[in-house]
Amino acid sequence: MQSEPQWDVVVIGGGPAGMIAAGRAALRGRRVLLLEKNPTLGKKLLITGGGRCNVTNNKPDVRTMLAKYKKSDKFLFSAFAQFGVRETLNFFHEHGLETKEEAEGRVFPVSNKAKSVCDVLLQYIKKNGVNVRTRAEVVGIVYDKPAEQIVITLADKSKVRARSCVVASGGTSRPETGSTGEGFVWLKSLGHAISQNDMALVPIALKDAWVKKVAGVTLNGIKLTSFKNGVKQKVYKGKLLFTHIGISGPTVLNMSRDVGELLQDEEEITILLDLFPVLDNDALRGKIQTLLTEQSNKKIKNSLSPFISPALVNSLLMLANIDGETPNHSVRSGERKTLVALLKAIPLHVAGLLGKDKAIVSSGGVALAQVNFKTMQSRIVPRLYLAGDMLNIDRPSGGYSLQLCWTTGYVAGNNC
Ligand SMILES: Cc1cc2nc3c(=O)[nH]c(=O)nc-3n(C[C@H](O)[C@H](O)[C@H](O)COP(=O)(O)OP(=O)(O)OC[C@H]3O[C@@H](n4cnc5c(N)ncnc54)[C@H](O)[C@@H]3O)c2cc1C
Repeated sequence: MQSEPQWDVVVIGGGPAGMIAAGRAALRGRRVLLLEKNPTLGKKLLITGGGRCNVTNNKPDVRTMLAKYKKSDKFLFSAFAQFGVRETLNFFHEHGLETKEEAEGRVFPVSNKAKSVCDVLLQYIKKNGVNVRTRAEVVGIVYDKPAEQIVITLADKSKVRARSCVVASGGTSRPETGSTGEGFVWLKSLGHAISQNDMALVPIALKDAWVKKVAGVTLNGIKLTSFKNGVKQKVYKGKLLFTHIGISGPTVLNMSRDVGELLQDEEEITILLDLFPVLDNDALRGKIQTLLTEQSNKKIKNSLSPFISPALVNSLLMLANIDGETPNHSVRSGERKTLVALLKAIPLHVAGLLGKDKAIVSSGGVALAQVNFKTMQSRIVPRLYLAGDMLNIDRPSGGYSLQLCWTTGYVAGNNC
C-alpha cells in the first residue's frame, strides 16, 4: 500500500516564479510547502529594475509579446494564452499594487519600489496558507516511481515527500541572491537536457579609462553602433548608463549578447556612441555654431552644460582636446568640427563582457522540448513542474524575464 505524501506540492525556490506558483497551488486547496535556502524570500526580486522592479512589458496581445522571445515563442504560446500580460497586470492590481507604464512599455509599481511587488507575493502566499520553510537548502530530488512521489532531500539530510514538485530555483546570474544553479544538477540527473551558455544580459567593460569619471551618468535617446575591426555590425537605440568600468543600461544589456559573439573571434570591437541621433552632422554643427555665437563670451564648458549631460562635458572636451576654459569666441573652427564629430561618434573600446555574476539573466537552462507548456510539467519526470529562470529562453531586458516568471509560475501552480 502506498503511503500518503506529506505534501501535495513542494515548491523549491522563493523567487517570483516559486512564490506565484506556491500561492496559486494553495489557493486551489493544495497543501503546499515552499522551500527557500535564504533566510528571506524574493532576494533577487528586490534588486530588480534598480530596486524599482520592471514588473512586465505592456504588450497585452500575446503574439506581439511572444515576438520578443524569438525562437521560444512557439513553446510559450499555450502558457501565455492562460496567463499573459493582461492577466498579470490584473493579478497585481487586484492585489492592491498600482502600476505605471514608462518608456518602451516597461511597467513599474507606482511606488517605484520592488518591495511593493514582493509584498504582494508574500501576502498572496500567506493568505492562501502556503507553509514556508526558509534556510532550507535542497540538495537533491528523486522520483520514487512505485510510490509515484517526489522525494526532496535537504542539506540537513531530512527528506520531504510530495505528490508534485515545482522547481523554481532560478538560473546562475547574481549567485549572491541564492540562484547558484544547483537545480540544473538535479534536473540533469533526472534525465533533462540542460544547455549551458555564458552569453546573457551583461554590462560591457571598456578600455577607456575616462568612463570612470562619468560613472552614474544616464543618457536617453542615444544610438550605439558596433564595429568589428572597423567594419560596421549593428545599430541599437535607447538608454545607456556609464559605470565605473564601462557601460550598462537596457540598450547595452540587449546588445551584450551580440558583442559577446563578436568577442569570441578575439577581434577589435568598438562601439560608437551618438548623443544626438535625431540630428545629422550639419544640423548639429549649425546648433553648436549658434550656441557658441550667442554666448560668445562664455567659457565653452559652461555653454555646453545645458546641452550635454554636465557630468560628461569635461570628458568630451578632454577627448576633443579643447580647453574647457576657452571663451566661445576663441574656439577654432577645427575644434568645433572635432567636437561635433565626437558628439555624433564617441569611440568606446570594448574590453570584454562582465562575468555571469554581474548578469541580469543567465542564458541556458532546461530544453523547452522537454516541458509541456500547457501545464509546465516536465515531459521527463511525472509530476515535476518547472518555472522561471530555469528554462532556456532568450529574452531582452524590459520586464520580459519577470513576465516569464509570472506566466510559467502561475501555470505550474494552476496544474500541479
Ligand atoms: C540586477 C538584476 C535586475 C533585474 N531586473 C529585472 C527587471 O527589472 N525586470 C525583469 O523582468 N527581470 C529583471 N531581472 C531578472 C529577474 O530578476 C529574474 O528573471 C527572476 O528573479 C527569476 O526568478 P526565479 O523565481 O526564476 O528565480 P530567482 O529569483 O533567482 O529565485 C530562485 C530562488 O531559489 C532559491 N534556491 C536556489 N537554489 C536553492 C536550493 N538548493 N534550495 C532552496 N532554495 C534554492 C534561491 O535562493 C532563490 O531565492 C533582474 C535580474 C537582476 C540580477
